[in-house]
Amino acid sequence: MTVFARPGTPDAAMSFQARYDNWIGGEWVAPVKGQYFENPTPVTGQTFCEIARGTAEDIELALDAAHAAAPAWGKTSVAERAIVLNKIADRMEANLEAIALAETWDNGKPIRETMAADIPLAIDHFRYFAGAIRAQEGSLSEINGDTVAYHFHEPLGVVGQIIPWNFPILMAVWKLAPALAAGNAVVLKPAEQTPASILFLIDLIGDLLPAGVVNIVNGFGVEAGKPLASSPRIKKIAFTGETTTGRLIMQYASQNLIPVTLELGGKSPNIFFSDVLAANDDYQDSALEGFTMFALNQGEVCTCPSRALIQEDIYDEFLSAAVIRTKAVRQGNPLDTETMIGAQASNDQLEKILSYIEIGKGEGATLLTGGERADLGGDLSGGFYVQPTVFAGNNAMRIFQEEIFGPVVSVTSFADYADAIKIANDTLYGLGAGVWSRDGAVAYRAGRDIEAGRVWTNTYHQYPAHAAFGGYKQSGIGRENHRMMLDHYQQTKNLLVSY
Ligand code: NAD
Repeated sequence: MTVFARPGTPDAAMSFQARYDNWIGGEWVAPVKGQYFENPTPVTGQTFCEIARGTAEDIELALDAAHAAAPAWGKTSVAERAIVLNKIADRMEANLEAIALAETWDNGKPIRETMAADIPLAIDHFRYFAGAIRAQEGSLSEINGDTVAYHFHEPLGVVGQIIPWNFPILMAVWKLAPALAAGNAVVLKPAEQTPASILFLIDLIGDLLPAGVVNIVNGFGVEAGKPLASSPRIKKIAFTGETTTGRLIMQYASQNLIPVTLELGGKSPNIFFSDVLAANDDYQDSALEGFTMFALNQGEVCTCPSRALIQEDIYDEFLSAAVIRTKAVRQGNPLDTETMIGAQASNDQLEKILSYIEIGKGEGATLLTGGERADLGGDLSGGFYVQPTVFAGNNAMRIFQEEIFGPVVSVTSFADYADAIKIANDTLYGLGAGVWSRDGAVAYRAGRDIEAGRVWTNTYHQYPAHAAFGGYKQSGIGRENHRMMLDHYQQTKNLLVSY
């Protein structure tokens, strides 16, 4: 067991600035209105830095810088851009521990996750898009003997990006890497709950990019996000966040007829067919582990498997084993390498989760474990911790239909294959799903029948850069990851030439 030293203490791998401005045109720029807001760590609830409270005026400054930088960046060769992305990846890798610590302190997630998953995935994302842009080719169509149509990829120009607080660095990189590889300049607004780790990162890698190619304006949704998404000076807006906010973003973008990428909410089913309990073996063990994935990242994952569907004939036995397994998920200090579940990202989120636990009790769901705020003692008592919670109920309940975005799973049973698919698809959302069966044909068929953009069969929560990710139904529009993402950040120029 290792407990990492807290940021800013003598043995720590990193320290934050006491105050962060906006990052515009390759330097720190104070907010035009001179206002800042306090940024607490979820680990203890104590403020550790101040953040610029950006407004429309700061967005305009950032757009000025992005427009100044975009033409030259868009004309660099793909090889030059790939070199820059690879240098960023190398710099991040050399500072992995510092970045992971920054992310854990700002967001409350366990250091074992940021060290092993969040930051390595972000690094790989830069490398993947460095390779993808090198491998991208245009096309040529022969129209007739002396007429040819060429298709070229061109960058869009200046794009806007708005991200949430659950994977601050990974969400930023999911958006930055393809946009930069495709030759765009970016104005990005982090979530107001978790801006500090992204600002720490840009401080670390900012010198590797030409000034103005990446600009970061901090602040709140309506004050800073809305002027960015509504601006006629951007050619695209990419957004990750709640479905209700996504609808607003689409309205803003429609005024300027610009494309949107929307990565929104979810209420993902995790289906356990009866054969998962056929033998007390490694497979059964992975299925039980798969059940506990609702608590990964404190349940603050858009694909959180927050509805577990268990076949009737194994319901009691599987559920009691799953509850025992849930109780073994170690909750603790996020800086401790043994900790599996840390703190919720904000006090508001903590309150929201506790209120949903009361809703679940009120609508008659059976509480099987958890259900309380967790008090970890010492100065962690001020942190935002919730016990992993398991409810049993039915799919009509609010706790089965509404996104809680916390370590809460709602469990129900199903009779047969058709019933499983019906319950799984009985939701407004369609982002993720899990299917557990030893029968490959059942797993494959369910994977195809579930209305969701990502279905994991016999695994859960893997996010490789080269697998397309995005939502069906009200979980979003467009895809992220995979080289197809480049198309979302480029337009096609057709040159029809008669020789
Ligand atoms: P949110 O919608 O409240 O905020 C997301 C971002 O939008 C923040 O930066 C916020 O400041 C900004 N914002 C809020 N109102 C705005 C407005 N009117 N105009 C412009 N910007 C505005 O979401 P959140 O609570 O930060 O994040 C949690 C949500 O994100 C969950 O619903 C989760 O499922 C979703 N999410 C989806 C994915 C995915 O890939 N589909 C990934 C992560 C999170």
